[in-house]
Amino acid sequence: MRFLLRVLLQFVAFTCLLLAAHPARAESAGRREPARVTVYPVSRAREGGWYLQRISIQGEFQASIGASLEEALPDSLLNDHERHVMAWDMAGLLRWDVDFARGLDVGDRYSIVFERFLGDNGEVRYGRLLAAELLVSGRQVAIYAFDAPDGRIVYFDGEGRSLERSYLSAPVDFQKISSGFSRSRYHPVLHRWRRHEGIDYAADPGTPVRTIADGIVVRVGWAGGYGRMVEVRHANGIITRYGHLSAFTPGLTPRMAVPQGAIIGAVGSSGLATGPHLHFELRVNGVATDPRFLPREGGTPIAEDDRVAFMIQRQKLRGLMDEPPATALSANTP
Ligand SMILES: [Zn+2]
Repeated sequence: MRFLLRVLLQFVAFTCLLLAAHPARAESAGRREPARVTVYPVSRAREGGWYLQRISIQGEFQASIGASLEEALPDSLLNDHERHVMAWDMAGLLRWDVDFARGLDVGDRYSIVFERFLGDNGEVRYGRLLAAELLVSGRQVAIYAFDAPDGRIVYFDGEGRSLERSYLSAPVDFQKISSGFSRSRYHPVLHRWRRHEGIDYAADPGTPVRTIADGIVVRVGWAGGYGRMVEVRHANGIITRYGHLSAFTPGLTPRMAVPQGAIIGAVGSSGLATGPHLHFELRVNGVATDPRFLPREGGTPIAEDDRVAFMIQRQKLRGLMDEPPATALSANTP
């Protein structure tokens, strides 16, 4: 009996060791719930042979927007290329609010409604983003499409405010950052934030670098460890620095005014850089600040005449998000 007990105890201890040695296994036991997908047939679209559908997805973010979409939308719903188009579209529309190039906090939640076109031959095309409600690093971000009376599609937040801000969320285009599609957690900060006081964006040499806000160029030239650096002064005591550049935009000189999004140079590895990346730094009254925590004042809100129509459209889109998932639909049955 005592022997049996000892064997049992040893077995338990061994199992614990195994579990401890394989944290990944323990993690996968408490797996996150899979993304929910609902397909709403809408109509036969204007262009012959294409069916229009609305697709609502709800889930938790992976380390990148690309990996999140890949998890939620199998090839039968949207193929790899169309998923990329959708990720670029989202990153573009949210370029003032979310820096998808920095990677996402795994487990943050999203709810997205978009259109897709389905051809008679089963071909699938991404249409447009209709609505998204995201929780990104503790911040709530909402965006809704509005069909304006003049035929344009405009996007607003939940209150009808503009998505535009005086600061872009990143100095590089998400589209140019391959890590946006990485499955693994992306670490744009090569060193710890506090010591480093900046964000490093790994990007191919030559990738265009943009100033994140209107400002006045203060410095264009070599600056020690920064290598080729551009410094721009903005309103409210804010300056931004862009380092390790391979080249400056020709003609860029101090005291020159630059608008938000202007290309000021190209990614390189000049100065103390181990590989090609952009060193981006933002200071408020001399103190290094994470751009995510900048105050965010907006652009022009929806016109008063359109407000009621917008609110109705927003409610309809919200309705598509709140619906419980319907029965699984095959991608090829419109
Ligand atoms: Zn750096």
